[in-house]
Amino acid sequence: SGSPAPPPRTPPPGQAPHAKSEKETPSPNPVRHRTTNIASAVGTAATGPALHTACVHYGHIRVRKRIYGYHRCSLSTGAILETLPLPYPPGEFGTSAFWIDIPLKLRDGIVRRPWLNFFAGLHSVLHTLLQLLPLHVVADPWDLNGLSMDRHDQRRGAVLCVYDQVPGGLGICEKAFGQVHRLLQHCHRCISKCPCERGCVACVFSPTCDCNNEGLDKKAAVCILDQLLFW
Ligand SMILES: [Zn+2]
Ligand SMILES: [Zn+2]
Repeated sequence: SGSPAPPPRTPPPGQAPHAKSEKETPSPNPVRHRTTNIASAVGTAATGPALHTACVHYGHIRVRKRIYGYHRCSLSTGAILETLPLPYPPGEFGTSAFWIDIPLKLRDGIVRRPWLNFFAGLHSVLHTLLQLLPLHVVADPWDLNGLSMDRHDQRRGAVLCVYDQVPGGLGICEKAFGQVHRLLQHCHRCISKCPCERGCVACVFSPTCDCNNEGLDKKAAVCILDQLLFW
């Protein structure tokens, strides 16, 4: 979960996140061998319950996954010995999702603070959201996945998106959509009250992370949630 995307374009109203965010080339130093990205809108998105500064949407999306390669690792140390390419074409499926458009003002306000990493914060919020969602809506954590995008080519800016991992959707995100405010409040409590310094399995780490839980920022996550919920 968590992947940067190309520069933004203004989205048509209600349009769902789309596939141009797919990275077409492997990152120079991939930490894991999977890239997941939102593909295209199938249906229109409804505007959902407003957060303090942002809107939540629910809709149908297409997810594109691509495996670029794999790591050969040392059994004794776990160190990556080499990265080998895999020439597989991307796989694609349609599913249900909810997503939050992060206001540009919120993003820029955090980007201006050099001690915070906005994208790492958004990535951390996504992890906590994915971990806590099954406590609010009956779901298996492995039936969910998500993406945090710093810039989405169809939305105005950064997007946090959670989707049903099973093709066609399971109705999890549809149910969670109405509870996003409560979910984010829970995320805020979980991250801000966790005594760890830089993130741990109790707050922002995720067993399903594509990036091996690298690129996380607890303080930026709390700042994003603060602004979504209270400011
Ligand atoms: Zn922690
Ligand atoms: Zn991740």
